Amino acid sequence: MTVTLPGGRTTSGRLNGRRRDADGRWWYEVAIAVPAAAVRPVDGEDYSQVPTERDRGKEWVLQPLPYDRAEKRALVLHKVGCWAAKGRLEAVDDDMATVFIREKWATACEGCEPAPKRSRRG
Ligand SMILES: [Zn+2]
Repeated sequence: MTVTLPGGRTTSGRLNGRRRDADGRWWYEVAIAVPAAAVRPVDGEDYSQVPTERDRGKEWVLQPLPYDRAEKRALVLHKVGCWAAKGRLEAVDDDMATVFIREKWATACEGCEPAPKRSRRG
């Protein structure tokens, strides 16, 4: 669904339900995604049971370095959002991150210590 926000901007949302009131007007219950900075909790409400998820396939980034030595390869793997990740970054999924670490094509950042799931299984 396309939702028109106060002020006229539009965003897309997911329709969860609709009802018709006593005057015959339709009301749609629509869920929209907004940045966390745009919302604030209501005092006294418990949000601990709200599901938390992260975008799949975007957990890791590869950072190319301007050199390549045996003891320090030319690619560094970071967690998305690592403070040390700089420059031109390429997002990779868990499978690809696992291969790059296993084959020693990339080293793990010492700051964020990325550990792709598949490599943890050994
Ligand atoms: Zn890092």
